[in-house]
Amino acid sequence: MTHVLHRQINHTYPVAASAQGITIRDSTGKDYIDASGGAAVSCLGHSHPDIIAAMRAQLDKFEYAHTSFFTTEVAEELADDLASHAPEGLEHAFFVSGGSEAIEAALKLARQYFVERGEPQRRYLIARRQSYHGITLGALAVGGREWQRRAFAPLLIETHHVSPVYEYRERHADETPEGYGERLARELDIKVAELGGNNVMAFVAETVVGATMGAVPAVPGYFRQVREICDRHGILLILDEVMCGMGRTGTLHACEQEGVSPDILAIAKGLGGGYAPVGAMLLQDKIFKTIAEGSGAFQHSHTYTGHPLACAAALAVQRVMRRDNLLANVRKQGVYLARRLQDRFGNHPFVGNVRGRGLFQGVEMVADRGTKKPFDPQHKLHARIKREAMARGLMVYPMGGTVDGVQGDHVLLAPPFIVNEADVDAIVERLGDAVDAAVASIG
Ligand code: PLP
Repeated sequence: MTHVLHRQINHTYPVAASAQGITIRDSTGKDYIDASGGAAVSCLGHSHPDIIAAMRAQLDKFEYAHTSFFTTEVAEELADDLASHAPEGLEHAFFVSGGSEAIEAALKLARQYFVERGEPQRRYLIARRQSYHGITLGALAVGGREWQRRAFAPLLIETHHVSPVYEYRERHADETPEGYGERLARELDIKVAELGGNNVMAFVAETVVGATMGAVPAVPGYFRQVREICDRHGILLILDEVMCGMGRTGTLHACEQEGVSPDILAIAKGLGGGYAPVGAMLLQDKIFKTIAEGSGAFQHSHTYTGHPLACAAALAVQRVMRRDNLLANVRKQGVYLARRLQDRFGNHPFVGNVRGRGLFQGVEMVADRGTKKPFDPQHKLHARIKREAMARGLMVYPMGGTVDGVQGDHVLLAPPFIVNEADVDAIVERLGDAVDAAVASIG
């Protein structure tokens, strides 16, 4: 009998007892390769001595000082560090304890910015279907997972959704990737016109879609057109890089590869690598200045905003990533992982598509490669794959509803940035066996 309200109440979880590098060991002594970094969190692997030492050093100084009384050296250093490596203009950081909090902060900052600019009529949010921005009410409202929103719909703020970029299924055969991106940009433009450009506050999108669709990048030019539409109407662009950011795709921020800079950038998971619950919202100087010269205070804070231990962990993670040149390894091993996945699944009868960037790769399952027909959702293929992978000592992040929130299954891979070729080989081999066993179990 457990007193913990677990995610799945009728499921028995193994007990994590220790962890080192890319491996977690349970209380029976069984090892699991962490090929998903949990949920794309553990970018440096587990129990990294340098991160633990930096956290200890902070604890030896002090543990906590409320931000309404003090700033701290470690929060200042982390903000300097993030600002100096961020896309142009993102010069300020607001610290939170995770991804949902970063999105909540972004939504409120966008609203306060327009109120203080004298544009209080701007109240509409546009986001995309098949997206995830977090589980709290504001983040859930912008998110596009219908099944997760349904029960809470009466509590959610009004948000309008447009199509995601989903080249594998939605680009027409006679369309170039660029042409497809233009069609999606037109759809956004039409939605803005429908709501009135002066009434829209922000467009929110994951730069690379993570858990909901399985590492789906945009097509070339799409985000540049989105940026242009936002600029034309004075709408803020909020990019959610909670999962795909902080090095996961091979550049520190995923938007660097799109050639755009958002007005607000949400980061979390890889920021602290799992060593502490930490996230951040980075914001453009123009937003900062509007509030600094207006009310002088962002009307939003948490008790644990800028917690010194969380900041110490995040700062150490960022420094180790640079010191050990891990982004180069993400790029190198990302190419290798994509190739090995293609080798194993490129001709697999039940895999329709392998996609992703860097160490962020997705494998989409289909019942029929020719028609791209998904498996019957009743089979819960994604849950079977997870079970078979765990049985083989492999952590991956499968999910259902890939296509439309109900149909489709995919597996998300997000291994730590420290993996080598032998690790990647072991991951792909175990995943291949798990996928075959899961499909066979359907019969
Ligand atoms: N945004 C994205 C893109 C995410 O993937 C997640 C979590 O998976 C969140 C926001 C929410 O983050 P958290 O679970 O830390 O609240």
